[in-house]
Amino acid sequence: MKYQAENAVSSFFYYMWNAWSKEECKIVFGNMHLHFWDKWSSLAGKGIFGAAERFFAELSEQYQKQLVERAVSLYDGRAFRKEPDDEDVYVCEECGSTKVEITAWVDANTNEYVSDSDDGEWCSDCEAHNTLITLKAFKEQMQSWWELCEFKVMEQITGLRECDYPSEDGSQAFVDAVTQWWNGQDYERKREIYNKHNSNKE
Ligand SMILES: [Zn+2]
Repeated sequence: MKYQAENAVSSFFYYMWNAWSKEECKIVFGNMHLHFWDKWSSLAGKGIFGAAERFFAELSEQYQKQLVERAVSLYDGRAFRKEPDDEDVYVCEECGSTKVEITAWVDANTNEYVSDSDDGEWCSDCEAHNTLITLKAFKEQMQSWWELCEFKVMEQITGLRECDYPSEDGSQAFVDAVTQWWNGQDYERKREIYNKHNSNKE
């Protein structure tokens, strides 16, 4: 992998501050990860400030390279991590919130995650045991609802009026306008609208 030095340095720090974890350690160092995680833990135990530098300094050149390549592949010098795919994000089936939790079996001695437990999906927004689905599925659900909305409802939501969009092609101009409006809303706003019109709780 080719990268510029300054990008590599900032990527490295963003990575160590924001992403570094036992999971990441496993990805970078493979079957050597327990050894390196111990090393990291003992360095971080002496104070988190400077731990990343100290850790890096103690690695061999080859391992330094592996760590930096991982950091660059995630951050590429930017201050934020690449967004995960919608397919990898879970949300509440009812309300689309990402504030969801699962209960899991954890090894009582090592605290290591073992498996999901069967009965524990929880949405903090609904404060209920709701099923989780992927963000992708929820977005699709909202999209199909929107596309099947009656014009009256679309007018109400967007504030646009069909009669203001005369068109030779039926209602196409109005449809284009509300589509553009809808596409301009971010996920949270769409969710709010969708939930208002689809809530079972009323
Ligand atoms: Zn919810």
